[in-house]
Amino acid sequence: MSSIVECTHCYTKVLPPLSGECPACGKNTKDISGTDPTRTSLSIGHGEELPPFCCDCGNKTDRFVKVIRSVSQKDGGVDSLRLIYFLLGWFLNVIFFILAARNRSSDVVVVRVPQCRDCRKNGSPKPISVNSEKLRMTILVNRHFKQLVDEGTVPSAPSAAEFDPNPYSPPKSS
Ligand SMILES: [Zn+2]
Ligand SMILES: [Zn+2]
Repeated sequence: MSSIVECTHCYTKVLPPLSGECPACGKNTKDISGTDPTRTSLSIGHGEELPPFCCDCGNKTDRFVKVIRSVSQKDGGVDSLRLIYFLLGWFLNVIFFILAARNRSSDVVVVRVPQCRDCRKNGSPKPISVNSEKLRMTILVNRHFKQLVDEGTVPSAPSAAEFDPNPYSPPKSS
């Protein structure tokens, strides 16, 4: 019985056949030669907070690198809208294109990835894939770093209770 594994070559989550051949890249998931066992893929959501540890070496760091990827949203309504505006006149058409351009520029996935000074020298983190629907990107990280993320080692996210100005206020009488 086979189960979902992370391909050791392309880091895609796959369900390989018994032979072990990766459906995504065609290499054998059982063959680990030439692969880096310290690396794994991590899916990060837009604006998600990550623990202050370098994604490449796993050491503590307070340096974060912004990784920005634009995504193209499939929007079926645009073409018909554009036609209506075209019929309404050139002036409105111009306005529409300005608005459309503005909307498009907001279709980006931004994540702040922790990366120490030393690892930064080897280049900033590059996503191996970007999910435009879920606004997530997958990057290659240190296995230890992923563990920290999975364990939820996120810098002090204050609980809602701490923000309650007066937790013991008596219920208001109506
Ligand atoms: Zn593969
Ligand atoms: Zn590092």
